[in-house]
Amino acid sequence: MNKRKKATLVLMVLAAAAFSRFAAALERSDVDVQHFSLEYSFSLDGKFAFQNSLAGTANIRFRNVGSEAIKNLPLLLNRLMRYETVTDDAGRTLEIQSHLMELENFEFFQANIGVVPLAEPLQPGDTLELSISFGGRLTGYVGAGMLYTQEYLDPAFTILRSEVLPWPQIAEPNWLEVRRGWADPFDWNAVFDVPASHRVANGEPVEVITQGDRRIFRYRSSRPNTYLVFPIAPYEDLHVGANRIFHLPGNQANAQRLADSMNQAMALFESWFGPLAQEGGLSIIEIPEGFGSQAQFPTIIQTADAFSSGEEIDQLYHELSHLWNVDTYEPQSPRLEEGLATFLQGLVSVKLGGNVNLSEYMAGISNRITDTYERNPKYKDIAIENFGREGVTGLSYGVGALFYYDLYESLGEEKFIGLLKGYYSAYTDGGANFDTLVAYYRENVGGDSAKLVDEWLVGTGYVAKLKVN
Ligand SMILES: [Zn+2]
Repeated sequence: MNKRKKATLVLMVLAAAAFSRFAAALERSDVDVQHFSLEYSFSLDGKFAFQNSLAGTANIRFRNVGSEAIKNLPLLLNRLMRYETVTDDAGRTLEIQSHLMELENFEFFQANIGVVPLAEPLQPGDTLELSISFGGRLTGYVGAGMLYTQEYLDPAFTILRSEVLPWPQIAEPNWLEVRRGWADPFDWNAVFDVPASHRVANGEPVEVITQGDRRIFRYRSSRPNTYLVFPIAPYEDLHVGANRIFHLPGNQANAQRLADSMNQAMALFESWFGPLAQEGGLSIIEIPEGFGSQAQFPTIIQTADAFSSGEEIDQLYHELSHLWNVDTYEPQSPRLEEGLATFLQGLVSVKLGGNVNLSEYMAGISNRITDTYERNPKYKDIAIENFGREGVTGLSYGVGALFYYDLYESLGEEKFIGLLKGYYSAYTDGGANFDTLVAYYRENVGGDSAKLVDEWLVGTGYVAKLKVN
């Protein structure tokens, strides 16, 4: 072996030893994030979108809710971003080691995994605040299968949302742990420094200041959230009562039509379920097709198709209906609320004169689900209550909608709406997990309809109704 080869080998052995020390430091940490504060700045003037970069600082206050002291804190960040510095609330600069690694339980999802050895172990029950500066480029995770995460720092449209890790999050490199973190609501505030041509859309900003060719947006949580989303574009907006619609340039007529549909749908939901428990207006924010609609009070991000075509407006009804969901902070929830929203979008469309016939709409869903079960026979053994644990929550949209349709037909509309209203008013403060929902339904659905709850939610009796070959 020549000298050079020998030196290379020594380096490799040292690197391997350093990496195994790094991996050994990735211990499990049970933390409760109490407050998250974000400062974010970026330019959008690169010749190509991918050349644009961002810089940020995240202050994360968290408590050790585990039974062991935390010596090393694990962090995750988008794979094209770097950690710059970490300081603790005593002003001490902490070292951070980082490696690009694939997350457990999510093949091909790579993140920049950081490990921060704390100045002193954080004892159970104790709280610490870290300030982490970071920067780099933004990219989504289409290649890992999250097809709707098409984000770049594109001046036409960009979006910052928790699941592509555009800011540091405390979690081990394990997707289930990342998801578990999202079941934990926290207060937050955020400051964005963007080109003055652009707006950061969320709820009502605390403050907007224009300084030369830059604009500063300050936002603060109106209630604790588990998840953050900030679309950014040269948005124009439309005020509709207490609500705001942010639309992409040149789309004002469509936004006005969407506002009218929204008012009608909100009035219908209020007549069914009562006023929303949360105060304040909503923001409906147009995002390009393909980026995935989502609702988290007070923000609904809605893909452009619902803006541009009257026929796709029931997607907005779907998102609006989510505002009357009871919060669930349960990791691996079956996400039955997606089934309810899918059923309600059809029902609302019928009520508001859309060209949907409810039985045809539901027959379409039933056919798709039957096909899916024929192609995947093992689904026949999974009750809805296990959809989260089995990783098949995508089925909740269709199977859940079929459950609610069956219940609707069996109870009649008045009792059905009464059941949903009762559940919302009983649990809107404090939230509920899936077992609470099942218990509530069992108690309040009387007569022959009661067996539907068990057939669909806790057993697999529902499969017989799908007419799967
Ligand atoms: Zn939904």
